[in-house]
Amino acid sequence: MKTAVLKKIWLSPPHMGGNEETYVKEAFDTNWIAPLGPNVQQFEKSIENFVGNDINAACLSSGTGAIHLGLEILGVGQGDEVICQSFTFAASANPITYLGASPIFVDSEEETWNISPVLLEEAIKDRVAKGIKPKAIVAVHLYGMPYKADEVHAIARKYEIPVIEDSAEALGSSYRGFNCGSLGDMGILSFNGNKIITTSGGGALLCKDRDIKEKTIFLATQARDNAPHYQHSSIGYNYRMSNVLAGIGRGQMEVLKDRVEARRRNFEFYKEHLSGLPEITFINEPEGSYSNRWLTCVLTPSFEVREKIRIALENENIESRPLWKPMHLQPVFENNISFVNGVSEDLFERGLCLPSGSSLEIEDLDRVCETIKNLLK
Ligand SMILES: *Cc1c(COP(=O)(O)O)cnc(C)c1O
Repeated sequence: MKTAVLKKIWLSPPHMGGNEETYVKEAFDTNWIAPLGPNVQQFEKSIENFVGNDINAACLSSGTGAIHLGLEILGVGQGDEVICQSFTFAASANPITYLGASPIFVDSEEETWNISPVLLEEAIKDRVAKGIKPKAIVAVHLYGMPYKADEVHAIARKYEIPVIEDSAEALGSSYRGFNCGSLGDMGILSFNGNKIITTSGGGALLCKDRDIKEKTIFLATQARDNAPHYQHSSIGYNYRMSNVLAGIGRGQMEVLKDRVEARRRNFEFYKEHLSGLPEITFINEPEGSYSNRWLTCVLTPSFEVREKIRIALENENIESRPLWKPMHLQPVFENNISFVNGVSEDLFERGLCLPSGSSLEIEDLDRVCETIKNLLK
């Protein structure tokens, strides 16, 4: 019988760096308690410097909002179709429906677990043959692992369809030397509480073109025309980031590199201590890819083994989670068109995310590994 409650080990808790409160206090001291202000501008500048590749960043209230505005700027509207990676979090797909468009889901390939270039081209050809050319593609660097950008973007260029690069989980990842978020026609980031850095809630739209950044900010602040009174010629949104929360973001950017290193160390630790078990396998980085290892994921031989591990961890007060349930299997999208090959369904059945926070101590990681080893031995 347990005598004391074990310390809870979370999947991916927030991890403050130290200077966040200084910048938040600055917001209070200068009374910039609004969805604009110097912290927002400084946070944007530090994202632009980090991501590089001539990127512009517009900070918003969420990553979901960033996808919504990105699709709107690309002209997605009523009756359109947008191709979306099926193996992802629902926030990649939901904004497509906000605009009256339909997501068409495309399954994954086995190497990176992201959108399959083969199926992507098949889907485009099928839709084009039926007279409905997709308006955009939402591709995702899931769990921080870059998707096959060369292949995916070559297909997108061939059919002249813009790509929104969902980098919500991939800040700090890179592909052939370029940071994720700067590879697509537009990129999006998330600063939700569970992401690699957080503002408690928040996001950003990334783009090469300065005018697109201005347009994003315009739409995110109620699409107000240039006039002394409030005048509107188009429909706007209230999606701009708060200056208070941007203060947290400024502090978090100072420690982003450390956060990536810590998450990658978690992965290496798990790999070293668990890969001796025949039931546990890991996903490797393909040549040219660098993952922030946002979450360490393992594959087990079956749904039953995965559940056994998840429940054993839960009994030790350790949080773990099955991989994302593919969108084409979600009840809400059951009537949507999808192009599937069984890969994401299999990953969902057999895969598990292990605790991956950047604040995990060696003893925490040991506790996770020992629980799994004791169960499987
Ligand atoms: C978190 C996440 C989002 C949405 O970001 P929010 O800031 O939570 O709205 C979008 N796509 C993926 C893949 C995510 O993990």
